[in-house]
Amino acid sequence: MEQLYNDFFGSFGGKYVAEILRTPLDMLKEEWLKAMNSSGFRHELDRMLREFAGRPTPLMYAENATKAASGAKIFIKLEGLANTGAHKINNVLGQALLAKKMGKNRVIAETGAGQHGFATAAVCAKLGLECQIYMGEIDMKRQRPNVFWMELFGAKVVPVESGSGTLKDAVNEALRDWAASFETTHYLLGSALGPSPYPDMVREFQSVVGIEVEKEIKYRGLDVEALIACVGGGSNAIGFFYPFLEKKIPRLIGVEAGGSGDEPGSHAARMSGAGRAGIVHGYKSLFLLDDDGQVGTTHSVSAGLDYPGIGPQLAHLGQTGRVEFLKASDTEALEAVQFFSRNEGVVFALESAHAGAMTVKIAKDLPREKSVIVNMSGRGDKDLFILASNLDNERWCSFLKKEVKDNES
Ligand SMILES: *Cc1c(COP(=O)(O)O)cnc(C)c1O
Repeated sequence: MEQLYNDFFGSFGGKYVAEILRTPLDMLKEEWLKAMNSSGFRHELDRMLREFAGRPTPLMYAENATKAASGAKIFIKLEGLANTGAHKINNVLGQALLAKKMGKNRVIAETGAGQHGFATAAVCAKLGLECQIYMGEIDMKRQRPNVFWMELFGAKVVPVESGSGTLKDAVNEALRDWAASFETTHYLLGSALGPSPYPDMVREFQSVVGIEVEKEIKYRGLDVEALIACVGGGSNAIGFFYPFLEKKIPRLIGVEAGGSGDEPGSHAARMSGAGRAGIVHGYKSLFLLDDDGQVGTTHSVSAGLDYPGIGPQLAHLGQTGRVEFLKASDTEALEAVQFFSRNEGVVFALESAHAGAMTVKIAKDLPREKSVIVNMSGRGDKDLFILASNLDNERWCSFLKKEVKDNES
């Protein structure tokens, strides 16, 4: 088994930050390792995962989807049933409890689509922590509903106007805040990336997903051929795969956003596309870069996969070949949402639907005795606006127009 704390994964990872951030990162690493060895901390985290997040989440046999694909048995890990609707809560609870343990009463976080900010704001409300979320001003306009939820939980959402007004600018702003405030403040990073120790720490907090699945596989005696997860920054995938890295499951498959095409700017396929080595936001990994070596633009119908970088451990596991990377397009993801809704009565988040689409393809070519397991990293309630405008545009628009008219007076 790989150790808890790695720092580097092959040539990726590290801690490429301004001098001032070395102290808080070193302190964080020390406190986190102490917490992981403390039965009190683990007990409290387990209790919160159970009572507040709703763990363990079920592993559901997708009988109808299996019949439709007429191949291997399809199982779905329903992470989307966790409180706040996705796997993000696992990492947020871990880090927020750690912040409390370190005596920090203020939490800051970056958010792109708002899902990480949503989970962070909810946990801060529960634990009585002050919460400030940095969000690009463009993203705030695009993701109004999540801004509403964060504010309902009492968080302060700060618009970031610099750069392109999106996620990468929000990360820069959060790092700037932290450099000046780390005595009282914890920076609660949202995926398995960033400077060390974040990739290790986030993976450990997300491993609860894989650990639960491992128990179910044993209990049900499944012959598993593949585990399949979508990959934005990589936290749900690495948490799902981690307990199996050295086990006999033949295929661990990460599915990236194929977007609307192969041209630069129309997808977010780093591993299955054109990712190049670079150092961004304090860590070395593979990124989509433009000709000048600057962070490139990306596109995906799912905001959570619309990101130019990938966590360093997954980049390394891709190079060693233990994890395979494939991609699914915007259209395939939208189709997968409909397929699983009709056949299984669960709405995949658009991110997770990329993995769902690949799962059906893979199951088709396998014999019936085999099983494949897909991680439904989140549920699709949050995607109502995108889904409705893609699948039922006319009626949806007339509904929105009427809402606006009724509310304007
Ligand atoms: C944020 C998000 C993702 C992408 O993040 P990872 O760190 O790659 O897991 C995937 N699915 C859902 C539902 C999300 O909210």
